[in-house]
Amino acid sequence: MKDLIKKLSEAFGPSGNEDEVRNIIKKEVKPYADSVKVDKLGNLIVRKKGKGKKLMFAAHMDEIGFIVSYIDKKGFLRFSNVGGLFPINLLHQRVMFKNGLVGVVGEEKRKDLKAVSPLDKLYIDIGAKSKEDAEKKVGVGEMAVFSREFRDLGDRVVGKAMDDRIGCVVLIEALKRVKNPVNDLYFVFTVQEEVGLRGARTSAFGIEPDYAIAVDVTGTGDTPEGWKSPLALGKGVAIKVKDWGMIASAYVRDRLVSIAKKKKIPYQLEVLEGGTTDGMVIEITKSGVPTGVLSVPTRYIHSPSELLDMGDVEATVKLLVEFSKERFN
Ligand SMILES: [Zn+2]
Repeated sequence: MKDLIKKLSEAFGPSGNEDEVRNIIKKEVKPYADSVKVDKLGNLIVRKKGKGKKLMFAAHMDEIGFIVSYIDKKGFLRFSNVGGLFPINLLHQRVMFKNGLVGVVGEEKRKDLKAVSPLDKLYIDIGAKSKEDAEKKVGVGEMAVFSREFRDLGDRVVGKAMDDRIGCVVLIEALKRVKNPVNDLYFVFTVQEEVGLRGARTSAFGIEPDYAIAVDVTGTGDTPEGWKSPLALGKGVAIKVKDWGMIASAYVRDRLVSIAKKKKIPYQLEVLEGGTTDGMVIEITKSGVPTGVLSVPTRYIHSPSELLDMGDVEATVKLLVEFSKERFN
């Protein structure tokens, strides 16, 4: 599983540019699927047919990124954010463009050394000597992502874009483990989550599932003087109760909890103050879809070094597989 995590973590896929990620996933799922299709927005919809209810599992393929908005006379690139790019995570990071071009994030001279420079005081330095020189390599509208290698730390792993390539890995692994599906399963790899849950909206509308589960990452409180949260790495899959954008279906949540108890899958309950997932929009699709969310506890979300525990990943896969076997009325 780690090889696949590495491949997906290092792939280039800011919102709206998910091709590379989609191609990797397509290859991976093909031998296990009854059908694989890409919808008009770019969502990858992988079906494993069964006679029961229509279940939709969703994980997003896109990652946060940078978009070039202006190139100055000296060849420095000004940029805007693609999704939740926090200025505190950016200074002196390396970024990469689709064609492999690498740049470094620099900042204007700060007036207050203690203050973090906002995005409009930052720029990307690609080593260009002039505007003309820069324009030979990159243009306005092109996107970049963090440039960072995946590393295996043993029980834990660290890399960029674990949000939400780890969710993609969970779905792929679950698909591989489901042999004779009880329900009609749709594994959906969505686009443009980081800019407003856009792919989940259209794919859920098209599929019209009876129940849905989104798989994504969530923050933890287990670091020094960290955020006040009981969520911790290594304590199992997080079953969402509430986040900023949704209250998970109590029915789905309770079923997930009872399966976890019965199958002895370690789990923790998640209440997240900020942030949300594809689950938010799937839940309010058409006349409503009872939706739950499984989260992989992750440290340093939306940074180039998102760190998580493989035991939690395994627990997430197991719970998703067991949920897929449930019989619903
Ligand atoms: Zn995410």
